[in-house]
Amino acid sequence: MKVSLLTLGCKVNQVESEYLKEEFRGRGYEVLDSINVPADIYVVNTCTVTHVSDRKSRSLLRRLIRANPEAMVVATGCLAQVGAEQLAQIENIGLVVDNRNKKRLVDLVTEKVARDGIGGTAVNSGKEKEDSAQPVIGRDNKARQRAFIKIQEGCQNFCSYCIVPYARGPVRSKPAREILREIAGLSRSGYGEVVLTGINIGAYGGDLTDWDLTKLLSFLLKEMPPGMRLRLSSLEPMEVKNEILELMRQNKRFCRHLHIPLQSGSDTILKAMNRRYTRKFYSGLVEKIVRAIPGIAVCSDVMVGFPGETEGDYQDTAHLLSDLPVSELHVFKYSPRPGTAAAGLPARVPEEIKNRRSGELILISGAKNKHFRGTQIGKDLELLVEKKIEWERYTGRSDNYLEFEFTSSADYRGHLIKARIVGHYEGNIVI
Ligand code: SF4
Repeated sequence: MKVSLLTLGCKVNQVESEYLKEEFRGRGYEVLDSINVPADIYVVNTCTVTHVSDRKSRSLLRRLIRANPEAMVVATGCLAQVGAEQLAQIENIGLVVDNRNKKRLVDLVTEKVARDGIGGTAVNSGKEKEDSAQPVIGRDNKARQRAFIKIQEGCQNFCSYCIVPYARGPVRSKPAREILREIAGLSRSGYGEVVLTGINIGAYGGDLTDWDLTKLLSFLLKEMPPGMRLRLSSLEPMEVKNEILELMRQNKRFCRHLHIPLQSGSDTILKAMNRRYTRKFYSGLVEKIVRAIPGIAVCSDVMVGFPGETEGDYQDTAHLLSDLPVSELHVFKYSPRPGTAAAGLPARVPEEIKNRRSGELILISGAKNKHFRGTQIGKDLELLVEKKIEWERYTGRSDNYLEFEFTSSADYRGHLIKARIVGHYEGNIVI
């Protein structure tokens, strides 16, 4: 039986889809690489982080059902967690599997196929208790030499705009030895880099006895196989500990790259967002990091249009980010998520103002990134060779997350090489 998996949303969803693909393969299903080949079963790993993600998830499910009336269409992921009943009402949906039941998805699909064939409708809205962080490893399909390991699940921060704590539940961490075993397996398969990912990785170990992220990192950096480097996904400002910076400073295998969300440069808005830091704390943190670790790439997330965000609040954000030595911004527009604390707040910001603010911040991001790339010219960097793009032409990434391109008669894919940066164009570094 042929299965196609389609994924929306964050890296965690992508990692979990890769896990589901492995599970399907292990049960004898044929997992298709292309959506253009007709499948018997379609699994959509949905997202609900914004109203646009909701709309995309629902419309993809409807399109698949319409285009493949003989196939079974399955919804899973965060929208299936917080909106199971709503998805179950989509005509001819095959199965709805929430996040708590995601790791049993292949069982649930197999049972349903055995019982009803691939037609018919059933809903599983998840009566399971919270699972622990699933044993998940994902491969980045674009960069086949980099793998992602999910080290924890869930978040208890309850930022007032965010649906994720409701969709993903409380913090559950994967034991350190299990993470090390997975890294060793990836190293044997030829991977040169592992990205530790999760919903809120700074909360790692909160549910374990005597573990936290710092301890996990020093354990992994000491024990992981040679020839492999480590990168972190997003880390909340309050969770960037001095000990983590010290580990990064001392360990060449710990990539000089941090993704630290700001969200707003206005203290009034940060408070309304239930973010537990101030603009001063954030700027002090970024300045301290770049002083301690030369050449580090610090990326930031920023949100525009949170209810009550005045022009003054927005200008505070734009000025703060213009002045800070960040290498790139990920810009989001606020959209109310039903069930979150911010959803009922008055003083909504009109869409055209959100669009203007977001456009301006994207321009700032482009300028920052160009400047950062310029600062790296003449530097010797360690690069992971990832992809062959054409005859003797390869791409990959440096430890400080610059994308590069170069010519070589030897194939170094999966290897870490040293190179001197000679220039940059259209977002790519040339060596
Ligand atoms: S830290 Fe805040 S924004 Fe991030 S997942 Fe948790 S609640 Fe959402």
